[in-house]
Amino acid sequence: MTYTNFTVETDADGIALVTWNMPDKSMNVFTVEVMDEIDAIIDQVVGDTGIKGAVFTSGKSSFSGGADLSMIKGMFTMMLEEKEKDPDNAIQKLFDVAGRMTWLWRKLETCGKPWVSAINGTCMGGAFELSLACHGRVASNAKSVKIALPEVKVGIFPGAGGTQRVPRLTNAQDALQMMTTGASLTASRAKAMGLVHQVVEPDQLIPAAKQMIKDGLKPVAPWDEKGFKVPGGGIWTPAAAQLWPAASAILRRETHGNYPGALAIVKCVYEGLQLPFDTALKMEQRYFTQVLQTTEAYSMIRSLFISMQELGKGARRPAGIEKSDLKKIGVVGAGFMGASIAYVSAAAGIAVTLIDRDLEAAAKGKAVSEKLVADSVGKGRMTKEEGEKLLSLITPAADYEGLHDVKLVVEAVFEDRNVKKVVIEAVEAVLPEDAIFASNTSTLPITGLAENSRRPKQFIGVHFFSPVEKMMLTEVILGEKTGDKALAVALDYVAAIRKTPIVVNDTRGFYVNRCVFRYMNEAYDMLAEGVPAAMIENAGKMAGMPVGPLSLTDEIAVDLAQKIMKAYIADLGEGAVKPAHMALMNKMVDEFDRRGRKNAKGFYDYPPKPAKKALWPGVKDLYPQKKAEDFDIKVLQQRLLVTVALEAARTMEEGIVIDPREADVGSILGFGFAPYTGGTLSYIDGMGVKTFVDLCDRLAADYGDHFQPTPLLREMAAKGETFYGRFDPYAKKAAA
Ligand code: NAD
Repeated sequence: MTYTNFTVETDADGIALVTWNMPDKSMNVFTVEVMDEIDAIIDQVVGDTGIKGAVFTSGKSSFSGGADLSMIKGMFTMMLEEKEKDPDNAIQKLFDVAGRMTWLWRKLETCGKPWVSAINGTCMGGAFELSLACHGRVASNAKSVKIALPEVKVGIFPGAGGTQRVPRLTNAQDALQMMTTGASLTASRAKAMGLVHQVVEPDQLIPAAKQMIKDGLKPVAPWDEKGFKVPGGGIWTPAAAQLWPAASAILRRETHGNYPGALAIVKCVYEGLQLPFDTALKMEQRYFTQVLQTTEAYSMIRSLFISMQELGKGARRPAGIEKSDLKKIGVVGAGFMGASIAYVSAAAGIAVTLIDRDLEAAAKGKAVSEKLVADSVGKGRMTKEEGEKLLSLITPAADYEGLHDVKLVVEAVFEDRNVKKVVIEAVEAVLPEDAIFASNTSTLPITGLAENSRRPKQFIGVHFFSPVEKMMLTEVILGEKTGDKALAVALDYVAAIRKTPIVVNDTRGFYVNRCVFRYMNEAYDMLAEGVPAAMIENAGKMAGMPVGPLSLTDEIAVDLAQKIMKAYIADLGEGAVKPAHMALMNKMVDEFDRRGRKNAKGFYDYPPKPAKKALWPGVKDLYPQKKAEDFDIKVLQQRLLVTVALEAARTMEEGIVIDPREADVGSILGFGFAPYTGGTLSYIDGMGVKTFVDLCDRLAADYGDHFQPTPLLREMAAKGETFYGRFDPYAKKAAA
């Protein structure tokens, strides 16, 4: 039999090697067609008396990344369409679709012939759930092998048997930890947990998998054997009595009840371990169907899975411009940002001329990479040779000669218009005529900087976030005159260094900083109202933000916030900043020298490690304090999210951001905006624009005009529109 996505070759021992190798895809993913073919292959293996058992593997360097975008999208589209027609039937249909994988994997598990999964590389989500249904699992010890059930990160959970098989193979605590964090396991960790049977050299993978079958592997899962016992004894043991109350508490602490997917994992494991296996699968299928219907799952899948991939693949790249092959770039300014930009570029195989005012400063910049490489080699994340190769790609320099053959220069010198002007002119004197100049400025509008350029069409902003090695987002900023070629090259560069870009039109603070300052400003208002600082910080975290707004101010630096406010006032006039906010910053910096984490004194005190940071007791003396009971924590949470979402809505209204996917993804990757909402605009769409506008009106009445809904929001509320409907990112493509 022939298949589109698989080959099945049976050897002389009667062992079928099923190799998954999808044409025209760099990674295997589950599609409806793939599942149909697996179904047919199971029938073939069962029906062919010449086949004793089967080994399932991948023909690509990775095993599989899990489900395909189009399949997930199709499921939601089907659900929405069916809901319009017949809501009850829609849920039944969703239940059936949600269970397709569950019962297909169960069919494989109970087909009567032994299956072994040979895991040769990254094995994620549904692909690992398929492996769990195989009777044997062998993994290669290659570094590229990463095993995970990461569904919780996109708002759902491992709903194809994952929550049932994992805790029947390993103890409940490790199972919960793995699934509620979505963390990746190495092959050896998976073996230690009992999730794979063998770890072997890459070239021994298939022979070892076949040997398991030759050695008489039983085609019966442990839980289908009579007398099967759950590892650790199940949930009615003294140990479990310790674990489960703590598990609920930890989940609450980590998620604040914001993630239905994470909660469902705990329920599935707890309830499932008390049920016979098939009933447990059905229970999991029910929870999966429920979670799929939540706004959180819908919004997170859209932003964190679909949109992120689409933006990463160049959704905003102008058509018709040849992909640029960036073998070498220049980075000017080898300070805090430039040094790290050089590192991430070299890590992507791009040669970098790293320039500073003198060779010593440039070499100091390269030393940052040397330290990062030494750390990675020490931790076994990089081989010595890889480290040496990376470092050999960075050439420190004190003049611009090395730029005569680059296609792109990233500028990261001091945030000073005059310094940048000198650098722009000096660089352009050497740079090839068709090369692109990208500035990493964080506050200076690109259009103004481009006035110093002889070729403003080739001038663009590429705004990195710190720490550059860790932050996944890069803002690409278009000046008034920036041309398509500059945008294409900038996006090719961002893709090459494996970050996600958002494309933003020029404005002060661009998109991310405009939004993030709202978060911090709201906290300054709260402080002035007498809200206890600890309550403000908790409200931020309970709303789903990674850090409280005062802690964030410390990280960014209180004196930098002061400097930025002063610059706003200097450029835009007194009205640009609330006087109370300016006064607070001045007091913190000028009176108390509290500059943030950088001088170990900000809204928090930062004692030497291992002591932990704690709120500065003096915060209480900044304003007359009220009691926590005087405030509603829910309202504080709303204020912190609504003010940011409103700013995002303003950027759409002003045409700064034009694609809602970018506003959403930018807000989550840029500053961790409550991921369960799907991002700033999904937060508004998720509750409905009308509800959001009503909420803004109430908050404006109580807390000030900055909560006033914008005209666009009022219009959208009146018309019953959503951001994704009004600014449909797919409409242009569909019309073309
Ligand atoms: P930094 O002070 O650490 O580094 C600036 C470097 O530029 C220094 O090494 C300096 O010697 C060098 N330099 C100054 N004039 C030069 C010249 N004429 N020629 C060559 N080199 C010169 O500053 P930074 O924090 O790395 O910031 C650099 C840029 O990145 C700024 O525009 C800043 O706004 C932007 N940025 C900073 C952050 C951040 O978190 N620090 C985040 C995003 C963007």
